[in-house]
Amino acid sequence: MADASEKSAHVSISSPSPPSPSPSTSSSMAVTSTEIKDDGERVINLDHGDPTMYERFWQQMGDITTIVISGWQSMSYFSDVKNLCWFLEPEFAKQIIRLHKIVGNAVTDNYYIVVGTGSTQLFQAALYALSPPNASEPMSVVSAAPFYSSYPSVTDFLKSGLYKWAGDANNFNKDGPYIELVTSPNNPDGSIRQPVVNRSGENLVHDFAYYWPQYTPISSPADHDLMLFTVSKATGHAGMRLGWALVKDKEVAKKMTSFIELNTIGVSKDSQQRAAKILQVISDSYEPVGNPKQSGSFFHFSHSMMEERWKALRSAAKQSGLFSLPEFPSSFCNFLGQAFGSQPAFAWLKCEGGIEDCGNFLKKHKILARNGKHFGASPEYVRVSMLDRDESFNLFTKRLSSLHLSQSKDHEEESP
Ligand code: PMP
Repeated sequence: MADASEKSAHVSISSPSPPSPSPSTSSSMAVTSTEIKDDGERVINLDHGDPTMYERFWQQMGDITTIVISGWQSMSYFSDVKNLCWFLEPEFAKQIIRLHKIVGNAVTDNYYIVVGTGSTQLFQAALYALSPPNASEPMSVVSAAPFYSSYPSVTDFLKSGLYKWAGDANNFNKDGPYIELVTSPNNPDGSIRQPVVNRSGENLVHDFAYYWPQYTPISSPADHDLMLFTVSKATGHAGMRLGWALVKDKEVAKKMTSFIELNTIGVSKDSQQRAAKILQVISDSYEPVGNPKQSGSFFHFSHSMMEERWKALRSAAKQSGLFSLPEFPSSFCNFLGQAFGSQPAFAWLKCEGGIEDCGNFLKKHKILARNGKHFGASPEYVRVSMLDRDESFNLFTKRLSSLHLSQSKDHEEESP
């Protein structure tokens, strides 16, 4: 959400309507696809990755996640003065560790937890902490294309003397220390990634915003030096603006904490308490282990929803004949106990049939998606959010399936 195009897309949408109420039976948790009419006039905005898809689940969970914070509570700046990260709420830290242990997606023993206002703040804290303070030139920051479109803009926004965006990691050949951002599964294309530069002087930041079982099989607990997570894509609570970093090195964790101290003097306690409750409710539904309360278990619900959506999208692309999508190999998920292929939060859609600017082509059909060039890739690609509300997603697949070669020809004729 941090880059300018994401922001302008956000303000252009009308205020969201609340999710339609549904009966609180367990079957209402099932994925539904309603028959919809499309007159082709409504603008479908899937440019930004706003995770409103999850509203339905949390609404159906009712008051179990409600917390009440009185006027006299959460007043102090401090959460835990004995903790290196003194503004980390102990209950939030406890629930982070508990959830990672249950899902098995990250090691937490011997890690420091640093909380941030979204992983966007933690990303900046990490750049600050990993860059030497007295270097003769800024540290290079790279990521393999296609990379998350906010990385270049967030890195260079303040023209820091400490670090500087240096582009696609695949083309990076400068000597000396560097920071490589490894996003896995990747935004925008959902690929599972490893570092690509692999040279001495490397500093890795693993962005695990999407390493959760609704998106990809959980093969093993990640145990890298600096790992970023966010509630935005884990539970869908982007508006809480909370992320956490798992950091091995004490000095790095200390510097990240200092960055946040100077930047925002800590992180909202109210948000942390609310997030702790959300994570607790998810974990409760999976304990005792091996006995998930299927209908009310967040990852089972969201996994089925993503599965349905990817099926619908692949079928729409096939019906149209104008688009291709990445394929993902199936592998075993230790958490869900089954094999499946990744079903990413974004579709990295390629226009075929000689359409050179896929974003422009879709825009003519009132579908807004982010152009591949923002990710260091070709404009033949667009990134489409898979996380919007049902109504918007269903309309999207319906409209996409109706686009055929004749429309692409019209388009080419119109644009010289
Ligand atoms: N990293 C990646 C790869 C993302 O896709 C996003 C959200 N679009 C973020 C970080 C930022 O997350 P947050 O909302 O926690 O700032």
